[in-house]
Amino acid sequence: MTVPTTLTLRHHEGLLARSRKRHEELILQLLYQHGSLSRGELMAMSRMSRTTLYDIVVSLVDEGTVTVSVPEVARRKRGRPVERLALNPEAGRVIGIEFAQRAVRVATANVAHEVIGTASEQHDPGMPWKERVETAYRLVESVVGEPPRPNAVSAIGVGVGVAGAAVTPGTSDVAGAARSDPSGHGPVSALVRQRFGAAVQLDDSIRLAALAESLWGAASGASDVLYLQLSHSISGGLVVGGALHRGGYGAADGFGHITVDPTGAACGCGDVGCLETVASAGAVLAAYRAAGGVAEGLPDLVAALDAGDLTARAVLARAGTWIGRVLVTLFSTIDPRAIVIGGELADMGSAVLGPIARELNLGGMPGVRVQRSLRPARLGEMSAALGALALLRTGTAGTPLLGPPVGPGGIAVPDSALATPRPRPRALAPVSTHRGRARALS
Ligand SMILES: [Zn+2]
Repeated sequence: MTVPTTLTLRHHEGLLARSRKRHEELILQLLYQHGSLSRGELMAMSRMSRTTLYDIVVSLVDEGTVTVSVPEVARRKRGRPVERLALNPEAGRVIGIEFAQRAVRVATANVAHEVIGTASEQHDPGMPWKERVETAYRLVESVVGEPPRPNAVSAIGVGVGVAGAAVTPGTSDVAGAARSDPSGHGPVSALVRQRFGAAVQLDDSIRLAALAESLWGAASGASDVLYLQLSHSISGGLVVGGALHRGGYGAADGFGHITVDPTGAACGCGDVGCLETVASAGAVLAAYRAAGGVAEGLPDLVAALDAGDLTARAVLARAGTWIGRVLVTLFSTIDPRAIVIGGELADMGSAVLGPIARELNLGGMPGVRVQRSLRPARLGEMSAALGALALLRTGTAGTPLLGPPVGPGGIAVPDSALATPRPRPRALAPVSTHRGRARALS
């Protein structure tokens, strides 16, 4: 059987177009991750032939996606100055989304890494995934001021954080995303890809909070960071050498399941006496009630603490002590430059953080190092959505971040984009939208 010539040609043209699109995407991703590059640097990183690279750059410059400039220093040198290529900041918006259990949160930035704004909306925990993705789309639209259109920047993609997602290192999707979909509406990433018309990178939301805090939060500028989130569960994330550490099986975050009391209570993980059984929000509330306190939830415990209730103070100090002891071990094995503590319990301030610091000091850690390293989280409830933005810059392969977010090319977050640090846990407003011009943090 002979294949008609026109069909063969069309097939060939289709392959060429796909190959060109892949090349274009690679160039855009490299420019996004590195800020600005020369053609020579791009050629070395992309391993494209000179002809292919130059050809694609010309078309990207013509369509306004990529800009060309000559740095002043290069202009003063003899010979032909080396041009720098960069993404046009107005070429499009990149998007970070966190799908929490009861809320959707989004953060958007331009391709110059300036955060444009953030928004969030609470929902019923049983809301189907399709509707959550639609909510994210609507929130992005409210921040950007227009529907998020697929454009050149869709090559860089949408970063997504989902609770409990386990990323297989080196891939751009997760098994956990399908598992975390109790409503059976298909993997989250597929729904997001479909709705936003862009590539999707997905990771665990608490791990993304760790990335965000290390990039422009409490540990800004530190490349080795241990982030611990004290909430209804205890989890965390590790940033090592400027990149997220996921572990060999994508599960390097089980800090809440470190055994602290081998004779202790049964834990949901099947083990006994995990940190979570003594220091999670639920464990603290149970201990408070067992000691005669009356509290329906954390806000009541906060109120009791504020009213000078010694029992409330004692149960929080006990939880802080357990956490501190675990941190002593982690501190001496991981040696982070910064330990960032987030979550509702951390929001209770010195009542929890004080005992943690005390244990670290007692554990033989040099006092100055501990004082410098222990920091309350700064980015509040938007940390995972911002981390999803940061993920786009590092990729799931874990390219290290390129240094602290200062100066041109660094990531800047306007204060207005950050939910105010939560001094006390309280109900969130149903919808909150923050918009503001990006400016560098000092
Ligand atoms: Zn456990």
